[in-house]
Amino acid sequence: MSTSATEPTYRLEQKRNITGTFPGPKSAALNERRAAVVAKGVASSVPVYVQDADGGIIQDVDGNSFIDLGSGIAVTSVGASDPAVVAAAQEQVARFTHTCFMVTPYEGYVAVAEKLAELTPGTHEKRTVLFNSGAEAVENAIKIARSATGRQAVVAFDHAYHGRTNLTMGLTAKAMPYKTGFGPFASEIYRMPMSYPFREENPEITGTEAAERAILAIEKQIGADQLAALLIEPIQGEGGFIVPAEGFLPRLAAWAKENGIVFIADEVQSGFCRTGEWFAVNHEGVVPDIMTMAKGIAGGMPLSAVTGRADLLDAVHPGGLGGTYGGNPVACASALAVIETMIEQDLAGRARRIEELTVPRLQETAEKTGVIGEVRGRGAMLAIELVKPGSKAPNAEAAKAIAAACLAEGVIILTCGTYGNVIRLLPPLVISDELLSDGLDVLEAAIRAQA
Ligand SMILES: *Cc1c(COP(=O)(O)O)cnc(C)c1O
Repeated sequence: MSTSATEPTYRLEQKRNITGTFPGPKSAALNERRAAVVAKGVASSVPVYVQDADGGIIQDVDGNSFIDLGSGIAVTSVGASDPAVVAAAQEQVARFTHTCFMVTPYEGYVAVAEKLAELTPGTHEKRTVLFNSGAEAVENAIKIARSATGRQAVVAFDHAYHGRTNLTMGLTAKAMPYKTGFGPFASEIYRMPMSYPFREENPEITGTEAAERAILAIEKQIGADQLAALLIEPIQGEGGFIVPAEGFLPRLAAWAKENGIVFIADEVQSGFCRTGEWFAVNHEGVVPDIMTMAKGIAGGMPLSAVTGRADLLDAVHPGGLGGTYGGNPVACASALAVIETMIEQDLAGRARRIEELTVPRLQETAEKTGVIGEVRGRGAMLAIELVKPGSKAPNAEAAKAIAAACLAEGVIILTCGTYGNVIRLLPPLVISDELLSDGLDVLEAAIRAQA
């Protein structure tokens, strides 16, 4: 870890504080207003309304302070009000909020593209195009791959999550709640077996063998020469923080290269220092042809990016890519500030430190309780998979009960997983050791109550 890294500063006291019962009266009143006007289809996992957020703390309208171990789903890695991001956004918002890059361009967009060319793996020439959401980035990565290769088929994997738009619903694996009732879905999408070490039938299978299993199925069911893109999350997010066995990603990437297939790494959740490196592919030295990025990129301002090989991105005709808001100037200013904060505070190092502090504690709890099948993840993208004691049977009830018990004590944690039995930890990377430790105390007690 760099010794010259600066420390984060906080506006709010970094301390958990639940003043009474919650949701308190103000949150309850807001919930009533909400029920009358907000669609039921958008559900919230925590029943309180936010007043302020900073560092590792979320404060609600009734004065309760929660420890945030979710970062708004891996978004506020630099905190929800990092002073550098706030200043950059304020400065930009006072000059112009929008002109549309496709009409009258501005420097921020170009500067973000320059940074992404530097930070993403590989020294080859790169191009970038900016959008608003992760799903939009994935959609456009597929558009680019199809346009550049002249092929149509796309491979996605079991347990994948790529978004909720029509094309990305088709790429996402889990039906309920993401797909059920929303079809028909786009064609030419093929799903292949993932490397999921904890749930492999043959626990001895290596990463390379798991890759060969997928490659064989692709060759038989699709044909390599029909395949435009192979799309994969280097660590699966929504699907359960599944870390593929070592060798899986490099073998797939190498095979894609041999066959002229565009290897797209969806780093929307795993990117931007979350796993202890700038990107999760860096852990195995994989250089994707195209990467999609969003969540952690701009401290909560809506921004996403597709960065990849110049020859692929430039194969698309002028006007073929874009969108009214893509690369909004305030979001670009925020992204530049986020990148600076991540470097100055060595947040990749912080993510590794969070792993060092957290994993041994979770492993000890696993040994003591018998409800944890596996502790996994990298950096500050960590998870525990809950099982029925003495088996590998998914224990979604325990995951739900643990999340509820943590919340009751003022700790926000998220669940995920194809079987709903995974607790995922995504703390802001700027969380203090003390606050993280307090949150883990609460989590451990909640797990022990399930044993
Ligand atoms: C969240 C996520 C998406 C979708 O991003 P949105 O901004 O919600 O559209 C895509 N891919 C991965 C890996 C994600 O985690």
